[in-house]
Amino acid sequence: MAGGRRRTVLVTGAARGIGRATATRFGHEGASVVVNHPPGEHEHGEETARLVREAGGEAVLIEADVADPAAVAAMADTARRDVGVLDVLVNNAGICPFADFFDIDVELWDRVQHVNLRGVFLVTQAFTRQMVEAGRPGKVISVSSISAWVGGAQQVHYTPTKAGISSLMKSLAIVLGPHGITCNAVLPGTVATDINREDLAQPGKLEYFRQRIPLGRVGEPEDIAGVVWLLSQPEAGYVNGAELLVDGGLFVNLQ
Ligand code: NAP
Repeated sequence: MAGGRRRTVLVTGAARGIGRATATRFGHEGASVVVNHPPGEHEHGEETARLVREAGGEAVLIEADVADPAAVAAMADTARRDVGVLDVLVNNAGICPFADFFDIDVELWDRVQHVNLRGVFLVTQAFTRQMVEAGRPGKVISVSSISAWVGGAQQVHYTPTKAGISSLMKSLAIVLGPHGITCNAVLPGTVATDINREDLAQPGKLEYFRQRIPLGRVGEPEDIAGVVWLLSQPEAGYVNGAELLVDGGLFVNLQ
């Protein structure tokens, strides 16, 4: 609650995986959650909205491709009308179509850049403009990746977008800090979701990660959702421009 009212939260790409777990986490505090999903079938988004309500929150479903400026502008208008100015923006939507470097054509390159990086720019600009105009503080939390720090042979088009998200949050921490809006990035390690289902299904891959990760398991969406929620709390109010790795110790386990 913020001043006795439900906090207002947008989670992009909330139909599945980390986004769904994050929307549900905010549902548990009783927040009003905007559940964004891309154009197409609504079934998964509706299931997330159901989970948010079941947890005790309110849910509004808004379809928008985060890479599309007109769709993002329309989403911002609808969200303002239906839930009001946001307290928390979670930029989560992302794609990672695994591909060999020499097979990546310019269409695939552009699509990954547009969804993952341009989307964060567009959504953050549209929603923080409302916060600033209303004179309201807020929190922007963007889901980057351990891939902001390490490379990936099949992720040549993806890793630069995640480094870009981390960098964008650092610049925006400076721009928006004076308005009381903090901007931070959460960097998940390997989390079992649909985005890497095929990759993790390769023989030996899951076992490799279990051995490599000191906590002995890959992450669950809730592992990330919990940290996003923690960063949205008043106690985290002085965290601004940070990158927070949430990987079970994978990154430091090098030797
Ligand atoms: P996921 O289960 O595939 O979920 C991604 C969500 O983003 C889906 O709900 C998808 O919608 C949505 N989305 C895709 N394109 C969109 C668009 N143009 N506009 C709006 N929404 C869109 O994958 P996930 O693992 O939860 O990924 C969430 C975030 O975590 C991503 O940014 C990803 O890069 C990041 N991440 C994941 C891992 C991991 O190991 N899983 C690690 C590091 C970072 P549909 O359901 O309709 O496809």
